[in-house]
Amino acid sequence: MRGPCPLTPQATRTVRTLIVVALVLLMPLVAGISSGAAQDATPAAAPPSSIGWSDTFEQDNGKLNVVTSVAPLSSIARNIGGTRINLHGLIPDGVDSHTFEPAPSDATFLAKADIILLNGLHLEDPTVKLAKASLKQGAEIDTLGDNTITESAWIFDVSFPKDKGDPNPHLWMNVQYAMTYAKLIEGWLAKRDAQNAGSYKTNLDRYLAVLTKLDDGIAQSVQTIPDGQRKLLTYHDSWVYFARRYGMTVISAAQPSDFSEPSPRDVAKIIDQIKRENVRAIFGSEVYPSKVLAQIANETGATYVDKLRDDEPPGAIGAPEHTYLGMILTDMTLMIPALGGNIDALQGVPPYDTFMP
Ligand SMILES: [Zn+2]
Repeated sequence: MRGPCPLTPQATRTVRTLIVVALVLLMPLVAGISSGAAQDATPAAAPPSSIGWSDTFEQDNGKLNVVTSVAPLSSIARNIGGTRINLHGLIPDGVDSHTFEPAPSDATFLAKADIILLNGLHLEDPTVKLAKASLKQGAEIDTLGDNTITESAWIFDVSFPKDKGDPNPHLWMNVQYAMTYAKLIEGWLAKRDAQNAGSYKTNLDRYLAVLTKLDDGIAQSVQTIPDGQRKLLTYHDSWVYFARRYGMTVISAAQPSDFSEPSPRDVAKIIDQIKRENVRAIFGSEVYPSKVLAQIANETGATYVDKLRDDEPPGAIGAPEHTYLGMILTDMTLMIPALGGNIDALQGVPPYDTFMP
């Protein structure tokens, strides 16, 4: 029996296709309006596709082959290297970077890389091992985090306890550290590829201009959260460097150090903390769906906000907002209002890649 729609299935499909085409055509326009496009570092044309692609990686096209690990690092590298490098991100979207084991096929990429950009702070130990074994002559492994802070600034905490020896690796959630990552990448690319050094520097300057706005905007937004509410209770423990930079306190994280689910005892402890500290909202993670925080929210009356991101940008691969900038902006949109603040200071910060072709 046919439903209420008078169109044939084929016609329905055609209409759907037309709607999709119309939306795609309109998207750059809408995005431009909503972000106050093209004023500063926003690309004039439709934003280029973002991280994760490797379409030219395996061709011998004379460009530097750059391999990265987690998606935020890929995004930062892309904004510096732009179209002048071949870029391949090893860790697929939505895959847990902390327990990621490279596949044998990843060795192919590692063996072709001129530069392997990793976070360090023990995040990618299995990848480091494979990279060292696969490294071609003259290639280099560069770790961003280890060149950004020294061990004295490492943070050990709930899911990254000192007795395990692995520090919390999420430096990039502090935008100032992300700026250092961008500068490091620019230096490394320019050193190996002097011909494109000017382009890398231009891209760096454009990117830093937006990152500075993002950093300032977050700092101001956090200040709009009422005093005494600048507290974070998250599922995944990825906010400590963010908190240190922007004046928030991570009161706890629910995820144990073996990335399993918290025990009933841990849950009871967290519930006590939330009540004692009068925490207003608690935050789940995109990459680690768990029902535990929803239960904790139920018992404490805190608002439960799902889906903070620390290593998976929003949108599909290739979508304009599928970037480091888009990820942090999405997080702020979820986090700051839930804690009673506002993100007015972040209006106009574009989520798009900023590099020049
Ligand atoms: Zn993480």
